[in-house]
Amino acid sequence: MPILVMKFGGTSVATLDRIRRAAKRVGREVANGHDVIVIVSAMSGETNKLVGFVEETAPLYDAREYDAVVSSGENVTAGLMALTLQEMDIPARSWQGWQVPLRTTSAHAAARIEEIPSANIMRKFEEGMKVAVVAGFQGISPEGRITTLGRGGSDTTAVAFAAAFGAVRCDIYTDVDGVYTTDPRITSKARKLDRIAFEEMLELASLGAKVLQTRSVELAMRYKVKLRVLSSFEEMSDEAGTLVVPEEDIVESNVVAGVAYSRDEAKLTLTQVADRPGIAAAIFGPLAEASVNVDMIVQNISDGGTTDMTFSCPVNEVKRAEKALNDAKAAGQIDFTQLVADTNVCKVSIVGIGMRSHAGVAAKMFQTLRDEGINIKVITTSEIKVSVLVDRKYLELAVQALHDAFGLDRAA
Ligand code: ADP
Ligand code: ASP
Ligand code: MG
Repeated sequence: MPILVMKFGGTSVATLDRIRRAAKRVGREVANGHDVIVIVSAMSGETNKLVGFVEETAPLYDAREYDAVVSSGENVTAGLMALTLQEMDIPARSWQGWQVPLRTTSAHAAARIEEIPSANIMRKFEEGMKVAVVAGFQGISPEGRITTLGRGGSDTTAVAFAAAFGAVRCDIYTDVDGVYTTDPRITSKARKLDRIAFEEMLELASLGAKVLQTRSVELAMRYKVKLRVLSSFEEMSDEAGTLVVPEEDIVESNVVAGVAYSRDEAKLTLTQVADRPGIAAAIFGPLAEASVNVDMIVQNISDGGTTDMTFSCPVNEVKRAEKALNDAKAAGQIDFTQLVADTNVCKVSIVGIGMRSHAGVAAKMFQTLRDEGINIKVITTSEIKVSVLVDRKYLELAVQALHDAFGLDRAA
């Protein structure tokens, strides 16, 4: 039997009624002749609640216990989905990560999948099971501890299963009916895309569009998984959703495919650091060791002996960054006059493979923001994206203005 992977996100399994509706979809695919691997998230809000419990119990928590707690939401929905399917007379069984076993690295809270042996589940399919319901987001480390794959990780579980089982397709069911030109919650002008290139989806995801976890897009690209994003709320149709496809399968596209944002960013500036070889290594080494995810970096021109160094990181890593830098200063590894943190910024980015062959895209972005009176604090570019850091209060305005300026409400 051809195998289909169907992933249901938090809102699609938020209540018993939603689980029943999702199970009906699974039932239809079974009736269509598929063996189905269902990947479930925790009920929406559940993982946030569990993270809150951990942080309240132990602010500097042991990551192994964090994973033990936050992985549990998926265990509940996996069991409930299997029971719901059984009630519909569909032979189904649930699997937690360790039972598969989905093997990962031991990087707790951000583990990477290493291996998914298919033998256990395949044997059950051969014995007549029609649906394997797998708890998303979780795996097992070489040390035998439960791990999690980072927030949004069930998408990655789904794509990895599709690759490991040679699935005909990986369908990601969520609360929007596909990938849009920007988050439809920010502007009603956002337009659903029928297709998007892997490269663009990868950039959008890594720049904050949470509809797919970045790692899931990477895996789909590498293992040529047919990936589709669609709504679990709307009626089924073959045309539904957005297909994530190789670049050559896109016929017409806008120069800019989409606008992404990341709300909770921070900008840190070290003033008057020595302008000498090795200074960047001396600053960013300790930050890396403290697991601070540094994103944008700018070094000012030197006044002769010293310079200012600015970088951005997620706002919830500021405390860790400050500690790492102050410790390095105390140890005499670096010197600076002040460490200034601005925790009220966000990142807004435009993405499109068309930028490779079009000049003036960045200039148009900057003019658009100027016309709205939005000051740009830091800029970075790559071949297919331009990102700016701006005050958080301008997030919606910046996204809407850029969406209009690049004509994203209209198809190419
Ligand atoms: P799930 O719980 O199903 O995994 P997520 O909340 O992780 O769902 O992702 C879906 C959400 O992603 C949408 O509700 C939407 O607000 C947001 N989103 C951000 N950018 C985009 C985009 N470009 N297209 C579609 N959705 C987006
Ligand atoms: N439940 C996890 C989270 O909220 C994983 C997921 O939903 O993809 O991050
Ligand atoms: Mg998600």
